Amino acid sequence: MSLLSRVLLAAIQDHMTPKVYARAEDLLASHAIQRITQCRQSLEAQVRGGQLYTVKFLLDDTGFPAAVACDCEYSFSGWRKHQGAVAIELPIAASGQ
Ligand SMILES: [Zn+2]
Repeated sequence: MSLLSRVLLAAIQDHMTPKVYARAEDLLASHAIQRITQCRQSLEAQVRGGQLYTVKFLLDDTGFPAAVACDCEYSFSGWRKHQGAVAIELPIAASGQ
């Protein structure tokens, strides 16, 4: 993983409690992210949980998620596992791994 990816990942981790981060990693491990589509600075992903959820990000100029949303019941409480899983995937994808 590149230095930039590590910095991004650390910043992403800062937005989640360790518990939520662990759940987000579980989602990634089970290949829950179905699809990520990006159009300029808005990004949308389908994440499979109990059902299929839609996660939306608004990226800032550095590619960091400035605003996140999810259509599941926890979307009101900021970065939860669905948003977290997609966010973790971003720097990994950027580093080509
Ligand atoms: Zn969610």
